[in-house]
Amino acid sequence: MIYFVGAGPGDKELLTLKGARLLARADCVIYAGSLVNPELLEFAPENCRIYDSASMTLEEIIDIMRECANRDENVVRLHTGDPSLYGAIREQIDLLIQHGIDYQIVPGVSSFAAAAATLGAEYTVPGVSQTLILTRMEGRTPVPSKENIVTLAKIQASMAIFLSADMMAELATRLMTGGYTSETPAAIVYKASWPDEIVAKTTLGNLAAEGERIGVTKTALILVGDFLGDAGERSLLYHPDFSHGYRTGATT
Ligand code: SAH
Repeated sequence: MIYFVGAGPGDKELLTLKGARLLARADCVIYAGSLVNPELLEFAPENCRIYDSASMTLEEIIDIMRECANRDENVVRLHTGDPSLYGAIREQIDLLIQHGIDYQIVPGVSSFAAAAATLGAEYTVPGVSQTLILTRMEGRTPVPSKENIVTLAKIQASMAIFLSADMMAELATRLMTGGYTSETPAAIVYKASWPDEIVAKTTLGNLAAEGERIGVTKTALILVGDFLGDAGERSLLYHPDFSHGYRTGATT
């Protein structure tokens, strides 16, 4: 069996119990060495074979998975954060299906959740935004033109932008072209939940300069939106006048 396991954002305690249990009985671990905290490998047994996928091709990865599957072994494929986001798991799954190899996905704590935790922030503040857009600038991987940052910025939702820390000037320009103002709050969170985490709160107009000042060009999320500001209303959910399935409000 091949288990795609979300490694979480960095801190090894943010691995799920299920992920840790699977690692503890893995015959083979293939981990994305560029972003997965190597401390997580401590959960694997001593005789476990360990491969860093950073220097491997898709074909090489699948070859190892096939060899293990032929021997009825358990493989843990460790992806940073949650595997469903920019994890390139789909191409692996397609080949596993072709080869008739069983797989399962175990979710993980994504870096966008860790970044909000670090900032003490909520993406969905009532009266501010009830929508979070997870996106990226195009790099060598293209982004469909209908999802252009300028278009997405028109929605004025909360945004968490992956894989774009080396393009902050262009990113800020596009976000402002789309309708955010230069005063819109923004944050750079580098290596959320790692010991060398860096957090910088700024405004969109100052984003690129701030990125340069702290010297961050990778492994960072850019968060943008008024959810980072002070505005907002209290929720209905916990309002004394509001009734719902679990509680009767005072004035209803
Ligand atoms: N699947 C991962 C995303 C992988 S894409 C997830 O769910 O988080 C890699 C990008 O994720 C990086 O360029 C960066 O934008 C972001 N990222 C991953 N780990 C991070 C962390 N600990 N702190 C901040 N950003 C992180």
